[in-house]
Amino acid sequence: MLGTELLLQLSWFTQKISLIVYLPPIIEKFMKSICVFLGANAGANPVYARAIQQLGTELAQRNITCVYGGSDTGLMKLLADSVLAAGGEVIGVTVKALHDKEIFHNGLTQLHITANMHERKSMMAELADGFITFPGGIGTFEEFFEVYTWKKLGFHNKPCALLNVNNYFGPMIQMLNNAAEEGFLQAADKDLLVQNDNVIKLLDQMLIKQLVN
Ligand code: AMP
Repeated sequence: MLGTELLLQLSWFTQKISLIVYLPPIIEKFMKSICVFLGANAGANPVYARAIQQLGTELAQRNITCVYGGSDTGLMKLLADSVLAAGGEVIGVTVKALHDKEIFHNGLTQLHITANMHERKSMMAELADGFITFPGGIGTFEEFFEVYTWKKLGFHNKPCALLNVNNYFGPMIQMLNNAAEEGFLQAADKDLLVQNDNVIKLLDQMLIKQLVN
């Protein structure tokens, strides 16, 4: 009897150990690509450039393909360059009108050129297993609110995250809190968002969210 109990305990222990050993590769299968929305400008504070380079390097190290708008300017360029420099893959999705003006990165793993913005955004959404919004301007806000709304409506079930560097999104989070207080946003919908100011913690939170979905 004692022998059986010991064997059962041993088998439980080995299962736990193998789960811990196999978890990172399993997680990678769930999150093969992430779409990043971010500024086509560099921002006024060098803290944004440092954080985006850290995100790019971390994506490459985790074998997560980076999907982004394909531009060769500002933070967008820094993101693509840092993923590529760390040996990772970058897929750019740009639109014909911008491509014709030559505002695109010509060193990417893949560059897709779509006929219009609507096609471009749905292709970006399809190619990604999750979305990170990084500080940026109105283009970034629009992209963030679209994937967040689609998640709320159940059109996709991929993690939507805010990388809140320098508390850039503080006022926007306050606006969402106000929307909830005023009865225009359900608490459950507010909780759909993943938020952190730390690159590594944010990626870990997204991976866990994806795994339990
Ligand atoms: P903004 O936040 O206004 O600087 O706009 C940045 C967002 O809009 C990015 O996430 C891109 O997807 C898109 N975007 C802006 N400029 C470009 C560009 N030249 N090529 C492709 N996408 C762009």
